[in-house]
Amino acid sequence: MAYDRNNIFARILRGEIPSKKVYEDAHALAFHDIAPQAPIHVLVIPKGEYVSWDDFSARAGEAEIAGFVRAVGTVARQLGIAEKGYRLLANHGADGGQEVPHLHVHLFGGRRLGRMVAKAGE
Ligand code: AMP
Repeated sequence: MAYDRNNIFARILRGEIPSKKVYEDAHALAFHDIAPQAPIHVLVIPKGEYVSWDDFSARAGEAEIAGFVRAVGTVARQLGIAEKGYRLLANHGADGGQEVPHLHVHLFGGRRLGRMVAKAGE
């Protein structure tokens, strides 16, 4: 799948659409999800043009991968949820339920998060 430079997260990265930013560095941007599904629901995205985890893991350079992974951990610690716990989720493709075609890791926390995956048909 080719990267779409007009996807909503690309537009947030360019500052064309506002976001509630919680963190930014050379490799990543983190902002609150517009429709939170937990008391804390933040999205962490790489600054590079990657459609999904599949694309990122295949094409990104070592510095980008290290920078992005470290940013996710930093954001969780900054949000104060590292001690009590949190969940990371990255949807890829149709079966994963991915809606926005720019890699994003969901970071959920602030309560007990329940079962990991929806039952079939949910
Ligand atoms: P996914 O299904 O993994 O692609 O998740 C996309 C997520 O992006 C959903 O949780 C949406 O609520 C969230 N989202 C969509 N548009 C925005 C936006 N403008 N700002 C923040 N979050 C958004």
